[in-house]
Amino acid sequence: MNPTAALDLSFLEEGFSARDVIEQNINESSLTDDRDAFYICDLGDILKKHLRWTRALPRVTPFYAVKCNDSRSVVTTLASLGTGFDCASKTEIQLVQSLGVDPGRIIYANPCKQVSQIKYASAHGVRMMTFDSEVELMKVARYHDNAKLVLRIATDDSKAVCRLSVKFGAPLKACRGLLEKAKELGLDVIGVSFHVGSGCTDPLTYSQAISDARYVFDMGNELGFTMDLLDIGGGFPGSDDVDLKFEEITAVINPALDKYFPVDHKLKIIAEPGRFYVASAYTLVVNIIAKKVILDDDNASDEEDEGTTDRTIMYYVNDGVYGSFNCILFDHAHCLPSLHKKPKPDEPLYPCSIWGPTCDGLDRIVEQCTLPDLQVGDWLVFENMGAYTVAASSTFNGFQRPDIHYVISRPSWQHVQRISSQGLPPQESCLQEMLVCCGRESVVEMPTKSCQTHVV
Ligand SMILES: *Cc1c(COP(=O)(O)O)cnc(C)c1O
Repeated sequence: MNPTAALDLSFLEEGFSARDVIEQNINESSLTDDRDAFYICDLGDILKKHLRWTRALPRVTPFYAVKCNDSRSVVTTLASLGTGFDCASKTEIQLVQSLGVDPGRIIYANPCKQVSQIKYASAHGVRMMTFDSEVELMKVARYHDNAKLVLRIATDDSKAVCRLSVKFGAPLKACRGLLEKAKELGLDVIGVSFHVGSGCTDPLTYSQAISDARYVFDMGNELGFTMDLLDIGGGFPGSDDVDLKFEEITAVINPALDKYFPVDHKLKIIAEPGRFYVASAYTLVVNIIAKKVILDDDNASDEEDEGTTDRTIMYYVNDGVYGSFNCILFDHAHCLPSLHKKPKPDEPLYPCSIWGPTCDGLDRIVEQCTLPDLQVGDWLVFENMGAYTVAASSTFNGFQRPDIHYVISRPSWQHVQRISSQGLPPQESCLQEMLVCCGRESVVEMPTKSCQTHVV
C-alpha cells in the first residue's frame, strides 16, 4: 500500500512556494463574497524539519507526538519518513495503525490510561507504554499481556511555557519502589522517559533529566531489568522566532547523551517531538469581517492630521480563540499577524486589537499591536500555526474550522517517497543536498548522483 496515495494534496508548480498559493487563494476568494479563513500546510516543511532533526540528533529516533496535530496528511507524511509515534489514546493508536505503522513504532506515552484502552493496546500489539505510579503498574499487570514499560520521571520544568511535570512523572525518590513493585508483579521495565515541558526555555533541564535517567537506568539494571530505552520526550521549538533555537538545545543534549549514555548497540534513544515537526508548516489566513474605530476625544483636536494617536481600531476576523487560536488559551501562545499587502512607506499605523468572530468577550486574539487602516474584506496572515491549533479547536457559536490546503513541491515529495521506499533515515551524504533542494525557496534544481530520486 502506498500510504501517500490517500493524501489530499496539491503539488506546487515549479518555482512556486506555499506563499504563492496563499496569494492565489486570496485572489480567488477576493473575487467572491466567500472569504473564509483558510490554512496552507506545506508538507515539505515537515520533511525539512525531519532532515534537520536527523542532522542535529543523529542518535535519537523521533516518535511524533500525535496530540500536537493529528491531521492524517501530517501523520502519513511522518509515517513515510519512518518516524515512530507517541500516542496517548486509543483513537490516536487507531489513526497511526490505520496507516500501516507497525506497533513497534508506537509508544503509548500516557502514564495514566483507562483500562479499556490498555486492553485495546494489548489486543493491537502496542507494547511500549509509560507509567509513573503503582496503580498503573497493577492495571497493566492485569489488563495487558506483554507490556514493555517505561518509567516516566519528573523534571524541573519550572522554566517551560507549558508545564507537564505538575501532572506526570515520578520523583526520583519514588523510582526504586516503583521498579520493585514492577518486579514483584512480573512486569518488564525497559527504560526511562521524561518531558521537560512544552516550550522549553532552558536546555540544562534536558541535561539534568538525562543524568537523572541514567540514575534510574542503573537502578533498573541492578534490580534485574534490561534497561535499553531512553526517551527524552518533547519540548523542542517549532519555529525559529524563539529565544532558544532547536540547535542550541541539541548542542546541550548531545554531549549529555554521550556522557551518560555512551554509544551502545543495545541502547535505543527516542524522543517525542510534537511542536517541532508541525508548527512552521501551517500558515493561517483570516479575513477582516468587521471593524470599529474608537476615537480618542482628548487627542483628536491637537493632532488633527497626524492620525496615529487619535484612534484605536478594533478588527474582528473569522477565526478566534474558540477555533485555531485556542493556542492562546491552552498553549500560552502569542500570535501576531503579518499583513497580506505591503503597506505604503508613508501609511500611518494605528494601535489595534484583533478579535475572533464569536460573541464571547474572551475571544481576543491580539490585545495590542499596530496596523495600518485596514478594511473589511482585507486579509491577515498568521505564520507558525501548526502546533496545538487545529487539534483542539471547536465550532463554538457555529463558526466552522478553516479548510486546510496541503501542498508540497515535487522535489520534496520525491524525497519523501525515496526515504519511504528505503525505509531508512537519510544518509548524511544526502542530507546536505536535500536541505538545499528543499529549502524555503524550493528552486527546483534536482540534486544529482547519490541523491537522485526516482519519480513515482
Ligand atoms: C505533549 C507531549 C509531547 C509533545 O510535546 P512538544 O512540546 O509539542 O514537543 C511529547 N510527549 C508527551 C508525553 C506529551 O504529553
